[in-house]
Amino acid sequence: RHFSVWTAPLSIHGEPRVLVVLIELTELRRAEKARADFLANASHELRTPLTSLAGFIETMRGPAKDDPEAWDRFLEIMYGQTERMRRLIHDLLSLSRIELSEHRRPDKVVDFGALVEENYEAMLPVARERGIKLEFLSSVDQANVYGVKDELTQVLQNLIDNAIKYTTPGSSVLVEIASGLDLEEARLFTSRRWNNAARISISQARPDADVPLVAIRVSDEGQGINREHLPRLGERFYRVDEGRDRTVGGTGLGLAIVKHIITRHRGGLLVESETGRGSAFGIWLPMVGQKLAQLKNSDNTD
Ligand code: ADP
Repeated sequence: RHFSVWTAPLSIHGEPRVLVVLIELTELRRAEKARADFLANASHELRTPLTSLAGFIETMRGPAKDDPEAWDRFLEIMYGQTERMRRLIHDLLSLSRIELSEHRRPDKVVDFGALVEENYEAMLPVARERGIKLEFLSSVDQANVYGVKDELTQVLQNLIDNAIKYTTPGSSVLVEIASGLDLEEARLFTSRRWNNAARISISQARPDADVPLVAIRVSDEGQGINREHLPRLGERFYRVDEGRDRTVGGTGLGLAIVKHIITRHRGGLLVESETGRGSAFGIWLPMVGQKLAQLKNSDNTD
């Protein structure tokens, strides 16, 4: 822990005393360090593709000057590097935009049920291209939440994209949604798929007791994530396997963005995973409209 100490001599009823003020700086230092680390990481991530581009330009001007075949190959790689930089800048801007608006509560009503279905459909071609069977299971007609549509879209796309990316071709990814849940039901719904899996809440608010929740789960049959990595998944630039994850084109910012958006929407993000079996990422959000008790009563009378 870090403290700043400030002292002043004073006298109380003629008795000499010393006033000592301790100001705790731990949180401030932590925030400063996080900012410095972030800048260092961001610069490193951006410099790597630039160094690679500069290297290829040098070679194309020099040793490979008259080799059109090499040029074709190099241009392909250079295009990949610029794409990588584009993704990084896009994710960095998203993150900073979301952080800037974090203190404002979203106030537009969004039908989350419809949004999940829309995004599932939007990701079908991506799944098909990678040989993944993407499925959708829903018992929800409408599930309104206070939200920012673009941000919730980004959450859904990041989770579905990860499930597709970190899975071997031929396997399935399942998107499920349920609504009208209390917190315990939402927790059960978002995880608890495999008995031996490790589970963790990456971000979790406490909803008001009488507010029903809508929850989704995106589960895959991919390589899974070792339990020691789970607590760090929401950190910026954190990747489980630096080498492997780079080849699938990630930036390491996707889940940090998801975490920020869900926190801003006063929701929870949970992960469960078992190495070799797969992962499930779940989120829940507070619903707008009816109270939980009303919903439960109308369920019982149906
Ligand atoms: P990236 O852009 O690298 O995908 P994310 O922040 O979205 O970054 O994810 C961080 C890391 O978490 C990934 O690099 C990957 O190692 C791991 N990860 C995320 N989703 C999954 C998943 N569904 N299955 C296995 N690993 C995953």
